[in-house]
Amino acid sequence: MQRAAPKSFNIKSFGCQMNVYDGERMTDLLSRENMVAASEREADLVVLNTCHIREKAAEKVYSDIGRLRREDGSRPMIAVAGCVAQAEGAEIPRRAREVDIVVGPQAYHRLPELISEAAAGKRALDLDLPGLEKFGLLPKRRKVGASAFLTVQEGCDKFCTYCVVPYTRGAEISRSFDAIIDEARALVDAGAKEITLVGQNVNAWEDGGRDLGALIGALDALHGLARIRYTTSHPNDMTVGLIAAHAQVEKLMPFLHLPVQSGSDRILKAMNRSHSADSYARIIDRVRAVRPDIAISSDFIVGFPGESDPDFEATLELVERIGFASAYSFKFSARPGTPAASMDGQVEPHVIDERLQRLQSVLNTQQSAFNAASVGKRTDILLERKGKHEGQLIGKTPWLQSVHVFATGAAIGDMIAVDLVSAGPNSLAGSRVSKELHVA
Ligand code: SAM
Ligand code: SF4
Repeated sequence: MQRAAPKSFNIKSFGCQMNVYDGERMTDLLSRENMVAASEREADLVVLNTCHIREKAAEKVYSDIGRLRREDGSRPMIAVAGCVAQAEGAEIPRRAREVDIVVGPQAYHRLPELISEAAAGKRALDLDLPGLEKFGLLPKRRKVGASAFLTVQEGCDKFCTYCVVPYTRGAEISRSFDAIIDEARALVDAGAKEITLVGQNVNAWEDGGRDLGALIGALDALHGLARIRYTTSHPNDMTVGLIAAHAQVEKLMPFLHLPVQSGSDRILKAMNRSHSADSYARIIDRVRAVRPDIAISSDFIVGFPGESDPDFEATLELVERIGFASAYSFKFSARPGTPAASMDGQVEPHVIDERLQRLQSVLNTQQSAFNAASVGKRTDILLERKGKHEGQLIGKTPWLQSVHVFATGAAIGDMIAVDLVSAGPNSLAGSRVSKELHVA
């Protein structure tokens, strides 16, 4: 069936920072086609930019598709993008006939052509993994917030036995140094004060012998850029140069998200992580030696196949040894096609629930303690959004804590100095200091 070409769009991104970045680039792309952003209820085209990392993500996509039908029986043009699109491919329009477009995470630069094909009544599908082709074909960044993501690396060659990323995002590949510097400059020109370099394995980035530490060093010279962050890293790629950057680069924020997954060497081996609990702790020691105030964050998986009580206790011991400022912890989710999905020793759901609660309780206590220890500090915060109350703004400390502050005359994008006056588990309250400081 032929249909009118869409004039408006809505993009819903799920999952990681890379999906957020991809969603922004699709917005740039569709805006260049003179399409305008609209609400999900009103848009002519709805893009579901999906995540496949855990649980029944695919099932959720099908229920989301069903909910797009409108009261008068009509529906928008529907595109499924992201990792579920890559993993499920042609199965999606077979199961959900209302889907017009299926586009993988490496092919979304072709969205305008796919939209034309769908408007002509064809079912449009592109699941190529052409590496970096899309970046050269996307429009320049024009409208961004105070804090922006910049994808520098895609894909993963690590093949952790539980993870779908190597299958949905393809092989590890780095964007060129020059392309990244150009995009960073465009982001700063468009209003970004902070850039977070993102990649599935961001610290595996390299170009002609330069590592991520060298890239961060080069970004330090960018006039108008105040803060640099990077995520997500793998312990095996914490190079000497990257650790040194934490000592040498003033704009690099004292925060490191370094997923460990488990504290048991037996489980880490079964996960194919290629680091041990002790080697992880020694990396943290080296980073802390050069940047003593650094906040450490991590990811954990609870209930990986074969995880015994002593294995789980080893995770709790590692958590005590490191002391985390924040962390994400997940129940193991058997992902179809990954080795772990068919391993012996799948753990009972009630055991996983109980372990997750215990782990989260320790991690929450550590996070609260980290925030409480910040009270009394004077620091810069970058204002990123409005708070719930009139005149209230929310900014981030160098350690990625949210701070609520009343700051008359200040605006989103400003860097202001505050005294941290009180702390809760998830955020702090700040009082503005009249004279601007640059503590970070
Ligand atoms: N590349 C990063 C690394 O090496 O840790 C992480 C990328 S992954 C998108 C983000 C997190 O999702 C992982 O650190 C892991 O904790 C979690 N994750 C991935 N696969 C999972 C699974 N099958 N079940 C539960 N959690 C999973
Ligand atoms: Fe997945 Fe990260 Fe392991 Fe790669 S390193 S397979 S992205 S968990």
